[in-house]
Amino acid sequence: MTKQIILNRFLKYVKIETASNPDAQNCPSTQGQMRFAKMLAEELKTIGASKVRLSEHGYVMAEIPASAGVKAPAVGFIAHMDTSPDFNGKNVNPRVHKHYRGGAIVINKQKNMSVTPSNECKGHDIITTDGTSLLGADDKAGIAIIMTLAETLIKNPQIKHGPVKIAFTPDEEIGRGADKFDVASFGAKYAYTIDGDKLGSVENGSFNADAFKIEITGVNCHPGSAKNILVNPVRVAADLINSWPVSKLPETTEGTEGFILFNYVSGNVEKMEIKGIIREHDLSKLHTLEKELKKLTETKQAAWKGANITLTIKEQYRNMKIVLDKNPAALKKLEAALKACGIKYNLHQIRGGTDGARLSFMGLPTPNIFAGYDGAHGPYEWASLNAMEKSFEVIKEIVTVK
Ligand SMILES: [Zn+2]
Repeated sequence: MTKQIILNRFLKYVKIETASNPDAQNCPSTQGQMRFAKMLAEELKTIGASKVRLSEHGYVMAEIPASAGVKAPAVGFIAHMDTSPDFNGKNVNPRVHKHYRGGAIVINKQKNMSVTPSNECKGHDIITTDGTSLLGADDKAGIAIIMTLAETLIKNPQIKHGPVKIAFTPDEEIGRGADKFDVASFGAKYAYTIDGDKLGSVENGSFNADAFKIEITGVNCHPGSAKNILVNPVRVAADLINSWPVSKLPETTEGTEGFILFNYVSGNVEKMEIKGIIREHDLSKLHTLEKELKKLTETKQAAWKGANITLTIKEQYRNMKIVLDKNPAALKKLEAALKACGIKYNLHQIRGGTDGARLSFMGLPTPNIFAGYDGAHGPYEWASLNAMEKSFEVIKEIVTVK
C-alpha cells in the first residue's frame, strides 16, 4: 500500500524536468525547479502540512506539529529537487520492472542497453529509464519518501510523533543547495538528507576539501638568444605536476585515502597557473598533503633558478563527521531506527561533499540516508521501490515516539 503510494508520487515527480544549470547565476538556476517547487508546496498544503512556505529562491519548507502531549526535539528531512545537468532530464519515461528475478534488465533494445541490479535486489520492484534520459531518482526518490511520511503522519493521528520539519532544496547537483537554506527558519535540532544510494547506505562523513592555486613566473626572452637566460614556466609547471606522487591522485586512491587533483593548467612562457583540489577525510592528513605540496613547490623553486613559484590554498568545506561526532543525537537516533527496521547498514564517509556537510557546519547536523537509487546522473540510473519503502520506514521510525 505505502509502496504503491511512493511509486505513484515518484512516477509523477520524475516526469517534471528539473535539471540544474551550473552556468546560470540565479537561484534556482532553472525555471523547471521553480515549477516543481510550486507543485510540491501545493501538495504539502493539500495533505495538510503546516506553515508551508516557498522562498523566492525555490526552497520549499513545511512542518508537521508534534502529536498532542509529545515532547521531542524537532527532526528535519531534506531532499533536493534538481537533477544532474550531466545527462538529459527531459521526457523521462520510467519503466517499472516488477519482482526482479536477477540478471540483466534490458532498458533499450535498439541501443542494446541494460542494467544489472545486485542479487540483494531479487524480488524487488526495479524502476529504470528507457535509455534516453536519466531517471532522476537522485533525488526525487527522497522527495517521494518524505512527502509520503508527511501524509502518513497527518492521516494517522494514532502514530505519536515529535515535531517534523521538511525542506525541498534546489541546485544541489551544482553544489549550491545549502547556499540560501535558512537554518533558523527551518527550526530543526538535527536533520537527515534522504539522498544516499543503495539500501543500507548511510553517510556520516564527507571529505575535508580545500582548493589550491600555483602561480609560476620565469625569465622570458627571445628564443634565438635564450641560451643560459630563459627560465620557462611552462616546463616548470610540467615538472612540478609530474613530480607529485602517483600514489596520491584520484585515479590511484579509494576508501579513506586522500588525494590531490590537478584539474586546470593555463598560461604561457610568461606565466603559468595551475589549479587543483585537495581531499582527505582526516583533517590532519589534509594538512599533511598540503605541507607536501608546499615542500614540492619549494623544491622546484630551488631547482629552477630564476623561477618564482607561489602557492595559495583556500578552504572549501569540512568533514561533517567533526560536527556529527560532537552532536551524536542524529546518528544515535538513525542507528536505532535502522536496527528497529532490521536493516543491515553500512556507515561510511562519502568521497565527496553533500548539502548535509555544509548544513552541519551551518548549525544543522545532517547525516545522509539511502534513497534507494544507483547509477545516478546517467541513462543507467535505476531505483529499487523496496529500498525506497525501507527508507520511508526508517524515517518514520526516527520520528515515532512510543
Ligand atoms: Zn542527490
